[in-house]
Amino acid sequence: MPSEFDAVIIGAGHNSLACAVHLAARGWSVGVFEQSREPGGAVRTGEYTLPGFRHDWAAMNLSLFAGSPFFKAYGDALAGRGLEFVPVDKPFASAFPDEKWLGVSTDAEATLARIKALSPRDAETWQAMAKAFPGEAAHIFALLGSPMRTRAISSFFWRLWRDRRMGGALDMARFLAMSPRAWLEETFESPHLRATLGAWGMHLDFAPDIAGGALFPYLEAMAGQAFGMVIGKGGADAIIGAMLAELEARGATVQCGARVARVLHRDGKATGIELADGSKVTARRAVIANIAPGALAGLTGGTGHAGFERKMAAFRHAPGTMMIHLAMDGLPDWAAGDALKSFAYVHLAPSLDQMARTYAQAQAGLLPDEPVIVVGQPTVFDPSRAPDGKHVLWMQLRMVPGAIRGDAAGQIGATDWESAAEPMAERALDILERYAPGARAKILGQRIVSPAGLEAENPNLVGGDQICGSHHLSQHFLFRPARGYSDGATPIAGLHLTGAAVWPGAGTGAGPGFLLAQKLAGK
Ligand SMILES: Cc1cc2nc3c(=O)[nH]c(=O)nc-3n(C[C@H](O)[C@H](O)[C@H](O)COP(=O)(O)OP(=O)(O)OC[C@H]3O[C@@H](n4cnc5c(N)ncnc54)[C@H](O)[C@@H]3O)c2cc1C
Repeated sequence: MPSEFDAVIIGAGHNSLACAVHLAARGWSVGVFEQSREPGGAVRTGEYTLPGFRHDWAAMNLSLFAGSPFFKAYGDALAGRGLEFVPVDKPFASAFPDEKWLGVSTDAEATLARIKALSPRDAETWQAMAKAFPGEAAHIFALLGSPMRTRAISSFFWRLWRDRRMGGALDMARFLAMSPRAWLEETFESPHLRATLGAWGMHLDFAPDIAGGALFPYLEAMAGQAFGMVIGKGGADAIIGAMLAELEARGATVQCGARVARVLHRDGKATGIELADGSKVTARRAVIANIAPGALAGLTGGTGHAGFERKMAAFRHAPGTMMIHLAMDGLPDWAAGDALKSFAYVHLAPSLDQMARTYAQAQAGLLPDEPVIVVGQPTVFDPSRAPDGKHVLWMQLRMVPGAIRGDAAGQIGATDWESAAEPMAERALDILERYAPGARAKILGQRIVSPAGLEAENPNLVGGDQICGSHHLSQHFLFRPARGYSDGATPIAGLHLTGAAVWPGAGTGAGPGFLLAQKLAGK
């Protein structure tokens, strides 16, 4: 293996690989060093329960990747390396305790009819909103896909002002500042519809009452209907396999089982890295660290810039996630109706109040008495992930505390995840059983991954924080990971941060990695 590259990248998450692909395509020599035995970071797939059952370890929904500027640039190349997506026409639904359900699908008429059955007024609102979506999306996606400088914010509002005058621009600013609850209660009257959309805020850390969170339920609702969802053929790791093949063909090196212990720098300039085994690798042009900001000082020994160090140390993580992977004899028999068997995600998040409660409990260090559960049913669309007639379920508990202080239900005494994981999983499976009687009897195999387990596999998931840092307004846009550093710059010349902690943040959209690579390569 060479010991010198133009760019050395720490961590083989999908952002690192996207960054590496673009730099390699621009003629840079690239070496990627990953501490885990496997590349992919939070995008991995494996037989975690029984042979023949392939589970997405973390991310399952690849819509952000498929819709990203990176995929636009490299989609053909990746397809040539074997990448296939599976389109999902019924992306998400919610089941309710009163045995009602609501789902959003790409069949706009069907979605509308379901909403109309709950509230004719909401159906009218939904229809108007869907009609306006292409116009809104043009503005919003331009902002979300831009390098985050004051200029990007100014041109976003300038374009809005040009198209809609002052009133329209202020309405958008107001919307962007709203909490999910404020927007959902102002917009819709059906509690079922509000809860169905509000559940999307919980995928990030936008519980119903967090300012700035309305955007996510809105985008998922509208994009879900307009485009559906995509998952990877055979597993989410389809994108990782294709990027690795592309990198190999371009002569890049990706080494796993190689923990980076130090970033080497001299006279304020990054010169390379040192691996845990003591070997050194030289970086001629850039060291790129896909790590949590709080871990940076440990690698650099300090940048000598007190303000930057303070900001990185103060970077806030969101509460944790717990995953339960199930190998199933069949899909759950949803009490609310068999139709739920045809959706990719079924949210068990019955009301905005329940979501607000579970978030407050997790923030306070309590195991929630009733966590929000996202039940992924990938094998409905991609049967290749399980033996004939069998299924996998991908269950995500949002949210749980990284460090446990107690149990909101007063039943689990353990305060370490090693002992608390199993009883907490039992609580979640009891909830599943309530919504789908008989589900437990269909379980053939299970694997529980606690927040501590997530972090043990991937140190970027601090306390099981699946988004590598809260997305609340104080840490988003110009402030991700901190004001002045949203392009991944650090006070050490040639040392750059990338990954979910950097603008535009978490998800599989490869934005931080691709924006950085474009900046370094001069587009
Ligand atoms: C449970 C879960 C479910 C999710 N579901 C979805 C979803 O369905 N859809 C979606 O869009 N997003 C989802 N996300 C979010 C998304 O997966 C992540 O935001 C994204 O994958 C992060 O990619 P990344 O490249 O920034 O970093 P990561 O994937 O976190 O990769 C960072 C890598 O760096 C390595 N590393 C760290 N420190 C070192 C070191 N010192 N030396 C060497 N290597 C190091 C880590 O081991 C890791 O492999 C989910 C996340 C989780 C955890």
